[in-house]
Amino acid sequence: MSKHEFQTEVTQLLDLMIHSLYSNKEIFLRELISNASDALDKLNYLCISDDKYKDLKYEPKIQINVDKEAKTLTITDTGIGMSKDDLVKNLGTIAKSGTKSFVEKLSGDAKKDSSLIGQFGVGFYAAFMVASKVEVQSRKAGAKSANAWISSGGGEYEIKDSKKEEHGTTITLHLKDDEVEFLEAFRIKSIIEKYSNHIPFAIFLEESETKDDKTEISNNQINKASALWRMNKTEIKTDEYNDFYKSLSHDSEDPRLHIHTKAEGKIEYSTLFYIPKTAPFDMFRVDYQSGIKLYVKRVFITDDDKELLPTYLRFVRGVIDVEDLPLNVSRELLQQNVILASVKKASVKKILGELKKLKNKDFEAYKEFYAVFGKVLKEGIMGEFDNRDLLLDLLLFKSSSRDELIDLEQYKEKMAEDQKEIYYITGESANMLKNSPLIEGFNEKGIEVLILDEEVDTIVIPNIGQYKEIPLVAANSANVGSADVDTKELDEKFAEILVKMKEELKDEVKDVKISTRLKKSPACLVYDKEDPDFAMQQMLKQMGQGDMPPVKPILEINADHEIFTKIEDKKDFIALNNVSHVLLDLAKLSEGMKLEDGADFADRINKLLAGSL
Ligand code: ADP
Repeated sequence: MSKHEFQTEVTQLLDLMIHSLYSNKEIFLRELISNASDALDKLNYLCISDDKYKDLKYEPKIQINVDKEAKTLTITDTGIGMSKDDLVKNLGTIAKSGTKSFVEKLSGDAKKDSSLIGQFGVGFYAAFMVASKVEVQSRKAGAKSANAWISSGGGEYEIKDSKKEEHGTTITLHLKDDEVEFLEAFRIKSIIEKYSNHIPFAIFLEESETKDDKTEISNNQINKASALWRMNKTEIKTDEYNDFYKSLSHDSEDPRLHIHTKAEGKIEYSTLFYIPKTAPFDMFRVDYQSGIKLYVKRVFITDDDKELLPTYLRFVRGVIDVEDLPLNVSRELLQQNVILASVKKASVKKILGELKKLKNKDFEAYKEFYAVFGKVLKEGIMGEFDNRDLLLDLLLFKSSSRDELIDLEQYKEKMAEDQKEIYYITGESANMLKNSPLIEGFNEKGIEVLILDEEVDTIVIPNIGQYKEIPLVAANSANVGSADVDTKELDEKFAEILVKMKEELKDEVKDVKISTRLKKSPACLVYDKEDPDFAMQQMLKQMGQGDMPPVKPILEINADHEIFTKIEDKKDFIALNNVSHVLLDLAKLSEGMKLEDGADFADRINKLLAGSL
């Protein structure tokens, strides 16, 4: 026998779980059944892919037994089992990263928290919500001996030798006194029906009934064990779809959408995809878990292949089951497989198509979807070429002239006949962008500008290029709005001002020009078409490319503004040195930039104020 201590995170987690998930304790059974099902899946795969396991008896089964006197609930599977090392590693530590964020994410709201449990791969520990002591006996497939793992929660567990006839795992829960409801057959059956009806393996429950002093023992299957994705759509109720989703994703909420396809053409396959309502906790982690399980002819192959769907659909949960792949397909070679590639292609099209249907049919629901997953979906613009138009149609934008979100089609419909481009502006806050001097001219002419205030926009949106052959152009690009207006006369009239300002600001700006886009503000900053704008420069800096010399903007000035007409009328250029710097700083502020030298700014303002008195 040897004593071991739990990894600190496990102890923390046990403590948190027992206190925060108290009202949703029944999920412990779902978690243990789900582990048993995974163990059977793993063994199945080994038996067909590895000669070493060729002679092993693969008889998949999950058995539940209760002992009312001893107050024990036992779950046995004939799956892959665990060695001593496995027991220590799997049931003493939390292997997956993200525990810290798990702990941070627990909200105290039992319903929400319980959906996080499985996602973090800590399902087994849920047993301690109802049990005062848990014993795990396990014999690894192919091994001769068995081991036991015993713990009463707390901070430690024990490992010792054990006996077990068959390979697989038996988990015995010594229920707490007030948790004996989980010994009742009807209670167990209702939990199984709710969460585990459609796992692909049979679950049996042994029951004993005493009638006229005679005790009869029965052992019946209590779940359907039908792989839901293989059934006909017409046979499946929405509830069944939803329950299966919950057992697959460990989410406690219904999904927003299910997408079930059975293809029987050249390639035969079934797919069942779900769009969750809330984001998986690890959606923005580099080491996110794939949400898709791959089966071949109902045999589980892997749930760890991130290439089954493109990364921008990483929030999708579900199953892909392909008929025409060899069962011993190597996991390493999956990514080069042509059949899988075409299933992937068809799946992407189907998922995007269903999202578009949702958008057309129930825009409110679509907006809720978009608020959660829009950011991720947008990443697709960088790499999705097959379904580009479909993807572009799914994007929603804030607008300079409307309060509601619009899509590119709606933008296009409102374009005046002579408008040849779609305009957008990117930056940090929608409010600031809507009031930006850069779009004053657009507003006055009644031209709509798309307002893009998310970080990804800076990188992703310029990549759109064009929508239905209409180019997308940044509103702060230097030649926008000026191309069709001749500023020659003004250039001459204000030549002296321009020259002086250029001289004054030569270290900070590329050029000073007469603007045709400004209506109210005296000045604004724009960028040469080839140059990254401020938002883009910020982004590059964050990505660790901060050594680049800063790109100088162009300062555009509003020749109609009092400041310039007065200076020009009086031919008094003395104040222009301070005015130039202050205007540049104000233009920076309106773009959300920080001033490098606030003291200098204040000093110049004070001088101008004093001069004006
Ligand atoms: P998860 O199942 O999400 O990985 P768990 O805490 O439920 O997290 O289980 C941890 C690990 O313990 C599993 O990944 C698996 O390797 C192992 N395990 C748990 N239950 C069983 C079982 N019945 N048979 C074989 N291995 C198991």
